[in-house]
Amino acid sequence: MDHFVYQGLPSRVVFGWDSLQRLPEELDRLGMARALILTTPEQKALGEQVAALIGERAAGVLAEAVMHVPIEVARHARIESARRGADGCIAVGGGSTIGLGKAIAMESGLPILAIPTTYAGSEMTPVYGITESRLKKTGRDPRVLPRTVLYDPTFTLTLPTALSASSGMNAMAHAVEALYAQDGNPIVGLMAVDAIRALARSLPAIVDDPKDRAARSDALYGAWLAGTCLGSVGMALHHKLCHTLGGTFNLPHAAMHAVLLPYSAHYNHTVAPHALNAVASALGGEHASEAGPRLQALNYRLHLPTSLAAIGMPHSGIREAAELACANPYYNPRPFDPTSIEALLTAAWHGDRLA
Ligand code: NAD
Repeated sequence: MDHFVYQGLPSRVVFGWDSLQRLPEELDRLGMARALILTTPEQKALGEQVAALIGERAAGVLAEAVMHVPIEVARHARIESARRGADGCIAVGGGSTIGLGKAIAMESGLPILAIPTTYAGSEMTPVYGITESRLKKTGRDPRVLPRTVLYDPTFTLTLPTALSASSGMNAMAHAVEALYAQDGNPIVGLMAVDAIRALARSLPAIVDDPKDRAARSDALYGAWLAGTCLGSVGMALHHKLCHTLGGTFNLPHAAMHAVLLPYSAHYNHTVAPHALNAVASALGGEHASEAGPRLQALNYRLHLPTSLAAIGMPHSGIREAAELACANPYYNPRPFDPTSIEALLTAAWHGDRLA
């Protein structure tokens, strides 16, 4: 065994059907007496359901979360949380909602209780992202890590099939990249492999039957593991590309992860064979070179878009994206430069089949 460093993150996880009912006692544990409930405009009714459950401890519902946390939305939420005298936030929704909670927490230090309704994994990470002038800036701050996470699969039953599949592949990307992270370690490796297995078996079942309770629970379990991976170790090329494309071209976050993951994993398979071999075998293969193609085959099975063109990326943006991704690069096991990234993005733009 090589040297490694492992640091657990201090969050409390409550998992299971109907765990929402434990919300009042979990607020007690946090000492939260006036919680601002955050959600998206589309999930406002869910926010109101949460408000009804906690009665006078609700400081109101702010249903303003949108993708990639634009700075203007973050500023308004900070003002609202102060104006309403909130002593914490309940973020009920996907990564956009939890991201808005983080934007408040990074300035005020207010605690977050998260109730995730997608598989994006933000609830398990101290990573925040804010978009300003077309650029998404990300960083780590322990204050933004939700203190308590209630995983209740009930709220994923309404997640549309296509978003379930793409969000699941977003989680998959966290697990895959954790296996070749610069600061990877054996515990995170175990979680990553189990996340890949759980997602690979549950997502097709959800696409076949979105009300399949066993599959919904399994997928949320995989998302928890994958989110923990993302929170515990640094990410690499794939996440860098997604942050760059998401911030600059406003592409749909989860679908973009799904499209790009096979190409970024494949890009690394020769220099990180052990990691990509683990990915391939969790997906039923044997060799590192099969990881990318098997991830792509899973995308086909889930009926997901499989090219950047199909999700609205302009072809003319490829060179700019390649340069931006290299301007302030993340660690990656295989070195990259604008030329190699342009080639990767061009293949992904066309949806070239990996072999
Ligand atoms: P999202 O939060 O943007 O949600 C997408 C849409 O689905 C919204 O309209 C939302 O209201 C709706 N929705 C969510 N759950 C639903 C449900 N159960 N039923 C019906 N509708 C539902 O999507 P996302 O993919 O979860 O989050 C993407 C954002 O999260 C991006 O900005 C990304 O950068 C961020 N993110 C951050 C981290 C991190 O660690 N900081 C990790 C992953 C994602």
